[in-house]
Amino acid sequence: MAKLRSVKGMNDVLPEDAARWHRLESTFRELVGRYGFGEVRTPLVEPTELFVRSIGEATDIVEKEMYTFDDRGGESLTLRPEGTASAARAWLQHSVGNQQPVTKWFYMGTMYRRERPAKGRYREFRQAGCEIYGDPGPFVDAELIDLVVRYLRALGIQDIEVLINSLGAGETRDRYREALLDYLRPHASELSEDSQRRLERNPLRVLDSKAKQDQAIAENAPQILDYLDEESATHFEELKAALEAMGTPYVVEPRLVRGLDYYTRTLFEVRGRGGDLGANAALCGGGRYDDMVAELGGPSTPAIGFAIGLDRLLLVMAEGTPKPSLDGFLIVRSKELRTKALAIAQQLRDAGCRIDADLRGGSMKSQFRRADKSSAPFALVLAEAEAEAGTLQVKELATGEQNELPVDQVADAILRG
Ligand code: ATP
Ligand code: MG
Repeated sequence: MAKLRSVKGMNDVLPEDAARWHRLESTFRELVGRYGFGEVRTPLVEPTELFVRSIGEATDIVEKEMYTFDDRGGESLTLRPEGTASAARAWLQHSVGNQQPVTKWFYMGTMYRRERPAKGRYREFRQAGCEIYGDPGPFVDAELIDLVVRYLRALGIQDIEVLINSLGAGETRDRYREALLDYLRPHASELSEDSQRRLERNPLRVLDSKAKQDQAIAENAPQILDYLDEESATHFEELKAALEAMGTPYVVEPRLVRGLDYYTRTLFEVRGRGGDLGANAALCGGGRYDDMVAELGGPSTPAIGFAIGLDRLLLVMAEGTPKPSLDGFLIVRSKELRTKALAIAQQLRDAGCRIDADLRGGSMKSQFRRADKSSAPFALVLAEAEAEAGTLQVKELATGEQNELPVDQVADAILRG
């Protein structure tokens, strides 16, 4: 029989790597908690139509990356490729907007896209993101961009670039679309196949293309910032001023459009410049999507959000010193003492210690070998004399220093280190 393996592009996280994941996740939770974001958890699977309507038909995600299948009832379902659409769906479904003028939500979890796997690009990957409904910005836009920068810094990721742009509102998009089409049409035959096909429906996609020939043509394309309506232009100026006031670094990148259809006005991307991923890896993408809630059938509601690719952070984040996952390793001198050892281990765990023990009944030597290999700084030895006296020998493995202590003082001693 062929060996069973995980699906291509979908990776296991083993306990030795889980500690770094916990750091990513707990740092995020702690930080967004300070801004008043509440967590939303939505299903991994949604009706396909949700993503088609929000992300847009002529996008890479919807055209070629979604895991879509018919369930047994014949309904078309899709594994979520991102979190924004599901959150907006939940926000609408539960009429959250009727209960509060502004909603601040965050999420964390796995996303699914059938891409060609590469370093930092997987078919199952993890994102953490925030969404704000009901605030038209621009100050909240600046605050959100700054939050991402603070998060990355908290993880020791300093070498980053924050790119911002504005896509304007409805009318801007139409005028710019026309100007862009006028520019692109004469070059149509030089564009990649994807871009040729999408040209009339969604010319902005050409600017976001990863194909070399498209990028060369996009180079000289008209810039959307020259087409902004007055309100969008003011919004963008105020955004920049707010970022400057907070000391948040940014660069205006007029060609930034990003891969989803739903963005309006503020758009941003954070790239990492160092580490394993090479130059210019996108770590986070975000922007305002003032039309999406209405597009999904809700009331017109301004909204903004971002998604951070956690797998990529793992590749650029500084190595922290791993914390030991155990406080003590219990060593049992004879088989007869194993029941007693179980009770002592439980007593120590109740006192907050992380305790492992080798209860297979092997020699002291083999148990000490396991204690040495474990991350526990202390071996706790239980022999007949100690069992009689209600004590343990507490041996610090790094120094060999050993003390006999009453069992009820052991927790304090090993937790203090
Ligand atoms: P890219 O241009 O790299 O394909 P994207 O524009 O498709 O990114 P978004 O949809 O904006 O990315 O998702 C936000 C973030 O999620 C990205 O900046 C990236 O860090 C991460 N991400 C996206 N796709 C993947 C993937 N297949 N594997 C790992 N991380 C991903
Ligand atoms: Mg992509």
